[in-house]
Amino acid sequence: MALAASVNSAAADRPAIAWNAIPYPAKRKAEMAAYSQRHYGFRRYGLHNPKVIVQHLTESSTYRPIWTIFAQDVADNELGELPGVCSHFIVDQNGKIHQLVPISLMCRHTVGLNWTAIGIEHVGFKPSDVLGRAKVRAASLRLTNWLRCREGIEIKNVIGHNESVQSRYHHERVARLRTQTHDDFPTSSMRKYRAALRKLTC
Ligand SMILES: [Zn+2]
Repeated sequence: MALAASVNSAAADRPAIAWNAIPYPAKRKAEMAAYSQRHYGFRRYGLHNPKVIVQHLTESSTYRPIWTIFAQDVADNELGELPGVCSHFIVDQNGKIHQLVPISLMCRHTVGLNWTAIGIEHVGFKPSDVLGRAKVRAASLRLTNWLRCREGIEIKNVIGHNESVQSRYHHERVARLRTQTHDDFPTSSMRKYRAALRKLTC
């Protein structure tokens, strides 16, 4: 009994998280608010009452270069906009969880969803780099479960970047970007991810 109880209550405990903040000064806040105005129709840099968690892959084998890219705050190659891209968390290949940005601030990680989504990057190239490695899988699920329980986010709204356009929360004012998404974490792998998440309790 005691063991079962402790396993259950541990599920939604806060995992160990290393605080490795990227700079998010007034300049970046102003850029985020202007981005929000252009893409969502309201001027804001704060993330309030998030409804979605988006899972990503860095397409890199290490953590540090991704931190550096997110910290730079320069226009991205793909869309050429400011602020620079970022995510709230990065899960490394050893299972270590880094937090880069408070979840009270918006990050640019998913077109159409930045206004309401927490972004979690994983170091790796394909979903099996996360789901097929016990330490990474456990860390990712634990982080996501803790966040979703804390913020009241439904499991169906824990999505892969590749599922972004289908989200009921997807909103994009710029017509040419309305179908823009990326390949990371398609539905085939997110079905497995959400099934594993359903086994954890809040
Ligand atoms: Zn992505």
